[in-house]
Order: sequence, then structure tokens, then C-alpha cells
Amino acid sequence: MSVVQNIMEEVKKRNPGEAEFHQAVEEVLISLEPVIEKHPEYVESGILDRLVEPERQIMFRVPWVDDKGNVQVNRGFRVQFNSAIGPYKGGLRFHPSVYLGIIKFLGFEQIFKNSLTGLPIGGGKGGSDFDPKGKSDNEIMRFCQSFMTELYRHIGQDIDVPAGDIGVGAREIGYLFGQYKKIRNGYEGGVLTGKGLTYGGSLARKQATGFGLIYFVREMLAANNDSFKDKTVVISGAGNVAIYACEKAKEYGANVVAMCDSKGYIYDKNGVNLDTVKQIKEVERKRISEYVKHHPEAEYHEGQKGIWSIKCDIALPCATQNDIHVEHAKQLIANGTKIVGEGANMPCTNDALNLFLENDILVAPAKAANAGGVATSALEMSQNSMRLSWTFEEVNSKLDAIMVNIFKAADEAAKEFGMEGNYVAGANIAGFKKVADAMMAQGIV
Ligand code: GLU
Repeated sequence: MSVVQNIMEEVKKRNPGEAEFHQAVEEVLISLEPVIEKHPEYVESGILDRLVEPERQIMFRVPWVDDKGNVQVNRGFRVQFNSAIGPYKGGLRFHPSVYLGIIKFLGFEQIFKNSLTGLPIGGGKGGSDFDPKGKSDNEIMRFCQSFMTELYRHIGQDIDVPAGDIGVGAREIGYLFGQYKKIRNGYEGGVLTGKGLTYGGSLARKQATGFGLIYFVREMLAANNDSFKDKTVVISGAGNVAIYACEKAKEYGANVVAMCDSKGYIYDKNGVNLDTVKQIKEVERKRISEYVKHHPEAEYHEGQKGIWSIKCDIALPCATQNDIHVEHAKQLIANGTKIVGEGANMPCTNDALNLFLENDILVAPAKAANAGGVATSALEMSQNSMRLSWTFEEVNSKLDAIMVNIFKAADEAAKEFGMEGNYVAGANIAGFKKVADAMMAQGIV
């Protein structure tokens, strides 16, 4: 058995039932095979064995009282995966599907993503199986306060810096920050990112993941003498990532024809009206099906997966993990899609990814392509440390430069190991090398 197969067996044995975590580890380890062949010292120092084991995993009870006076109990998580290159950094996800395996897959991915940003941030992730859908503002606040009442003892601006993810936006970060500040009796601005602009948040953080995805895909297109101009684009999701990916793609001259939420998708062949989507999703917090009430010429279809049957040049999965399975990949390829840009974390199954690569589809992998969010979080931490704030243009131009550098790193690593154009492997290798070298330098810890 090869080194990688051995480690994979061990990961499955030690982490039973955590399918998403196994998937994320497998995807990375396979692409590292040529690297460990060239650098046996990584294996000798147990880098891979250490990398797949989180430094610390915290699970806790989150009790809270709903508006009817009933006691509710959720489960909270924080997985501090790797601190070789900086304090643990990564978002919090509040979604009923959350369990340890989801948080571990996200935390594992975050190690490489954060490394690719070129900024000093380690990898971590957290969250809860709490479902924010249908909860009142007061319920959300009480839940966040209870969550932070345990989490506070494990985090700090030089220890572990959480942020948002699915189900955690500016409102939740505000409640979490308020509770942290109260318990600690101190203003530690850099302990959370994605904060509101009135108390230490960074301009362009909200837009950063979506904009960053489009900057990365722009670079990938340019390397192949192409651009967004007049391309038909399908974007899954209608959250923060999808909305700002749509905004930037439109700015670059693309026609975004479809978006979705977990219940169904809209198809507007004239181009999705983003103001309407923002009003429905950001202000009213309603379903995307509302869209057709404002634009009767558009179509709404029940079931989210149908979105991948729409003919498009560029597919941007920006919803959640395992959105594109092999059957959807086949549909996209048959319809002539040439580019897939992963805005969500692990939105394609490993089989779907392989099928795209075998068919010469250019894939912008999540760890590289959606790193703009966490990169801008690190810029928020810098501003907090300096106690000043940069303009939107300043942050946005730094973000753009970071995404250009990430593309170059993935491109060069792929070329170095004879896999030109395979940015999936390139990103994994480039992200891994920095962390591995830092771990080597720091000894067996
Ligand atoms: N949740 C985002 C991600 O998946 C952002 C994390 C952060 O800003 O720390 O990268």
C-alpha cells in the first residue's frame, strides 16, 4: 500500500462516519503524491499523519430559551486544526446539517486555503447544528450569547479568530462580539472578523468571497486568452458568495441567467436582476421563489439541482458542499460548459471533479478560488491591530492582488509537477508546501 493509501485507511478508521472529512482528505492527499515522492522528508517527519489530526477539537452544549419559553439544546463545535503559520482562522457555520464531520472537512480545507492567501493564518472552523431559519432576532441573539459563553475561553485575537460561514453573517457576528466583549471586559477587536463597519469591520469584507472568486476565474480565463465578456453564467446559491460573484461577473460583461436557494432555482434569460435578489435575500430574508413576483417573465423551478441542466459557459457553484455530483457534471459537459469556479467549500464531489478534469474543463478549486473571504478577514485583523481602517478601494485592490498571486501559485505548482492546467492539484500542492515547511521548522509538536 502506498503512503497515501495507508494514511487514508487510518483516517477512515479513526474518524468513522465522517464522510465529508474523508472526502476532503482524500482529494488533497491524492494530489500530494508527486510532492511526497520528491520530498520523502515530509513523510519521515510525519507531516501527513500530523496534518490529518486536528490539534484540538472542542464540542459543547449550547442551551437557550426560545420565544415560547421552551428550553432548546444545540451542539457547538470548534475544531482548531493547524496553527503552523498563524492563529487558527475560519468561520462558524450554523446549519442543521452540522456535525463533527462537516466542521472537520471545513477546518481541513481551511488550512490550505489560508496558506494560499500568503497571510499568517492557521486553519480552524466551528459552528452548530442550530437552524437560524424561522428564528426571531431575539432567539438568534440568545443563541449567539449562549454559544459565545462557552466559545470565549478557547479563542482570542492571537489564538483563534472565528468569522461567518453559512447561517452566520453580520447580525450573528455582532451578537457574538457583544457577548465576548462583555465576558472578557476588554475591547479585543481582532477576535472575530466579518464585524459591522461601526465597530471594527472592514470595508469590502462582505463582497470579498464573491469578488475574489471572479478575480480568480478572470485570471484563469486570461491565461487561456479568454474573458467573462458575453459569457452565460449559472450561479448556485443566493447567499453572500453567490450575490457578490454575480455582481462582479455582471460588471465584467457576463450574463448571469440563474441562481437558487435550497428549495428551487430561478431562470431569467435576460439576466438576473441582482437588486431584486438582494432585496429578497438580504433585506426580507425570504425564498428566491419571490423573484418571479417581481419579474413574471422569469421562471421558477422547484428543486435546486435542476439548475445544472441550464446551458452555460461558466458554472459557479456557490451554495454548499457536494452540490455537483457526477450526473450534474455530465449534464454541464454535454451542454458545453468550459469553466467551473468553486465559490462554496467542496461543492463538487471528487468523482465530478475528476470528470471535469478528464474533459479538459478548467476548474477553479474552492481552496484557491474562494480564499478571498478569509484573506479579507486577515486584512480586517491587520486594520484592527493598527487601529485604523482602509478605504473600500484599498481593501479591494489588496484582495485583487492576493487572488492574482493565488492563481500564480496554483498555476506554477501545477506546472512544476507536470500537471499544467490542473489548478486543483496546483492549489493543494502550493497550499500544502508552506504549511509543511513551517511544521518541519517547528519540530514534532
Ligand atoms: N467561512 C469563510 C471560508 O470558508 C470565511 C472564513 C473567515 O473569514 O475566517 O473561508
